[in-house]
This record gives sequence, structure tokens and C-alpha cells, in this order.
Amino acid sequence: MRVSQAFLPVLKESPSDAQIVSHKLMLRAGLVRQTAAGIYAWLPLGYRVLRKIEQIVREEQDRAGAIEMLMPTVQSAELWRESGRYDAYGPEMLRIRDRHDREMLYGPTNEEMLTALFRDDVRSYRDLPRTLYHIQWKFRDEVRPRFGVMRGREFLMKDAYSFDLDEAGARQSYYTQLLAYLRTFQRLGIRAVPMKAASGPIGGDLSHEFIVLAPTGESEVFYDAAFEEFDWSQSGLSYGDADGLQRLFDEVSSTYSATDETHDEARWNDVAEDRRRTGRGIEVGHIFYFGDKYSTAMGLKVSGPDGSNVTPMMGSYGIGVSRLVGAIIEASHDEHGIIWPEEVAPWKVGLVTMRADDAPSSAAADDLYSKLTAGGVETLYDDRDERGGVKLGSMDLIGLPWQLVVGPRGIASGTVELKRRATGQKEELSLEAALSRLT
Ligand code: ATP
Ligand code: MG
Ligand code: MG
Ligand code: MG
Repeated sequence: MRVSQAFLPVLKESPSDAQIVSHKLMLRAGLVRQTAAGIYAWLPLGYRVLRKIEQIVREEQDRAGAIEMLMPTVQSAELWRESGRYDAYGPEMLRIRDRHDREMLYGPTNEEMLTALFRDDVRSYRDLPRTLYHIQWKFRDEVRPRFGVMRGREFLMKDAYSFDLDEAGARQSYYTQLLAYLRTFQRLGIRAVPMKAASGPIGGDLSHEFIVLAPTGESEVFYDAAFEEFDWSQSGLSYGDADGLQRLFDEVSSTYSATDETHDEARWNDVAEDRRRTGRGIEVGHIFYFGDKYSTAMGLKVSGPDGSNVTPMMGSYGIGVSRLVGAIIEASHDEHGIIWPEEVAPWKVGLVTMRADDAPSSAAADDLYSKLTAGGVETLYDDRDERGGVKLGSMDLIGLPWQLVVGPRGIASGTVELKRRATGQKEELSLEAALSRLT
């Protein structure tokens, strides 16, 4: 993408209405614009990041055997009356009436809808277990939408739902999502620590929140340093390995981690002092086992192997896809701007001409741009006739992993400068060497 032809509005001043760094940077670097309280338009730069995160979430769900589908955003109130949640949900639900005066709502989550879909089409134990998911916009009329996309009213969520014949099966489905989440967040380049969540209405030990550490997080967190060392991608665990998944769950459960809501001083004191980590965190995911809560309320039954009716046991698993954009920036930035982890960066390389009016520089940069693009390297090319310093400043703000800087002096001796955004480290390289480094 050439900046001269792009829609990349960058603000010089820090917007005064943003309180936290990710929100400021998302406005300044032109990722989003608020169109109504807690509702955002995703500008091209932000949308590229959102799609990358979504794709990683999707790939890891698929690897874990979950099946993608798409449910609508607008739902019927009838569905929620069946589960008893229509009245219970309260003012966070956006309620709508259609022209025939039917009660509708903008979905805050989809347990009811998928339970109903399953009820209508699944008859036999042979069709279980199944985990289905979708990545769809949700609406929650938050009392105080704030921090930009971190607590929006409209937000993008991956939500998965598992159906099993019994509790043992449901535990397997839960463990499977636990591992998928650990791998997903690791691929996103962030450290998200699983923390036992305050048990919901049905109790049990099967509810974890995944918390990204950041000083602006809304909850206080306590955890064992072991969570900084695990490498979930290398664990060699496969999703079909029930014993391995049980060991994973046992390891996660026995390693201390808690939010202020579940913190236990006695257990905390058993953690070696040099391994205690405290801070603040942002909830980016939540997995939850709720047994037969919805299946019983909504009459979902399948015939079991002996012909008798079985009520499936369910769980649900959410990831805040749009919140992650903000959370990743909270965890990865400096005083100059965003520092994107490579996997989610909107482009890999920012190519900059220091003097667009210098013909040899422009010709060299045009050539680098076409070679990078032809080699499949996602490149943002700032070809504008602007001051070099201004262009470098925007590149730092936008935070692409690599900057390739073409200037008249370097080109005269056949070199360009390659800068790693994360470290600020710069290197003079020949054009060929720079290309082979990036492709
Ligand atoms: P929170 O405690 O932040 O209000 P929640 O516990 O109500 O979140 P869940 O119902 O567990 O949220 O939804 C799953 C995920 O959806 C959350 O872990 C979070 O990442 C995301 N999410 C929830 N509410 C919002 C929101 N208002 N804006 C952006 N993402 C959200
Ligand atoms: Mg909430
Ligand atoms: Mg929560
Ligand atoms: Mg939650």
C-alpha cells in the first residue's frame, strides 16, 4: 500500500478524551474512530490488525476441532424467555422492537441461540461431542463504555459452545479450549495468564479468565512466575490426548494465579517469594462450563446409546477479538508509538523515502516496493513528498516491525537503513541484503 493513495489519518496531537495509552495510540495512529458512545468504525489500519487477530483465533479454534459457523447479531426475545434470561439480563441488553412490535434484541452472547439450533437438528448421541463457534459482533449496553475498544458497547467476540454427553466429556472439551487459548494468546505475541474465575451460579472449578498484564488493567492480579516460562506451542500436546490434557489442566490449576476476586492469601504465601508476580490485568478471554443449565431450560435432549434421553452438558468459550487490539497495544508500545508483534502487524515493513523529490532515491524505493510486494512481504510504502522526519515519526507511531529507510546519501553508495521497531536497532545494508533479510 502506498501512503499517497491510502486512508491513514494520523493525528499529531494526543486526543484529550482518551485516558489510557492504547486508546490514545489507536486514535492517533488512525486505527479507529468513535461514531457513537462505545461504538467504533475500524479504519483500514485498525481493520487489518483486527482481521489478523481474528484469523489467528480462527486457525487455533479449527486446530482444536471447533467448527465455524455464523449466527446473526439480532435475536428474538422469545429465545431468551425460554432460558429465563430475558428479564434477568438487565439493562446491559439492547432491546429493540420491530415494525410489528415484536421484541428483539442485539445479541450480547449466543448460548440460547445455539442451544435452540442444536435442539432442532440434533437427535442422537452419535452427533456428540461437538464444539461450534462463530466470530460475530456483540452488543452490551455497558454503563460506562471506556478505554476505547477495550470496553466498547459494540465489540467483536469469538464465542464457542461445546455439547457433550456427560460431564467427563465436557471436561475434555473444556481442557481442549484451555489449550487452544494458551496457544492462541502465545501466537498473538502476548502473555495471557489463565486465572480461576469466581465460580458462576453452578459452582465447580471449571471457569478461567485469561488475563493480559498491563498497568491500566481493571483487575488486580497475582501469579506464579512459572506462567512467564511455559511454552504452550512446544508442549507436544495433542488435542486427542486425554491424559495429556488432564495433566495440562492439573499443572495450570496447581500453579498459583488469581484476580482480586479469587485471591487466597494462604495459598499465595506458599509461592516462593522470588516467584510472586503482581500487577494489573485485562480480561481477554473467558472459558466456562455450565453443565445442563441451558439444555435443561430449553429442552435440548438427544437419544443415548440405550435409547433413553440424555441432556447434553455444555460449556462456552469467549475471546474478546476487538478488545485484544487495545490489550496488545497496552502490552507493547513505547513513548514513540505502537510496537506490533509480527503476527498481528498490519504490514510487516514500512518503506520510507527520506527525500521523495530525489529521483535516484524514489527509483530505488519504487523498485524495493515492487520486489517486496512480489515476494509476498506486506509493505506500507510512504512515498509522499513530506519531510523525512515526519514520515519516520508516523512509522514509529504506526509501529510496523521493520522500517526500511531510503535516503540520497545511502543510495549514492548503494545502501539503505533497516530498523527494527522493537529495539530501535539500525543497520546499513546493501539493497540486496535488505531484501533477502525481509523476504
Ligand atoms: P468484563 O469483565 O470485561 O465486563 P465479561 O466478563 O463481561 O467482561 P464475558 O461475558 O466473559 O465478558 O465475554 C467474553 C469476552 O468478551 C471477555 O473476556 C472480553 O474479552 C470480551 N468483552 C466483554 N465485554 C466487552 C466489551 N464491553 N468490550 C470489548 N470486549 C468485551
Ligand atoms: Mg461485562
Ligand atoms: Mg469479567
Ligand atoms: Mg468474563
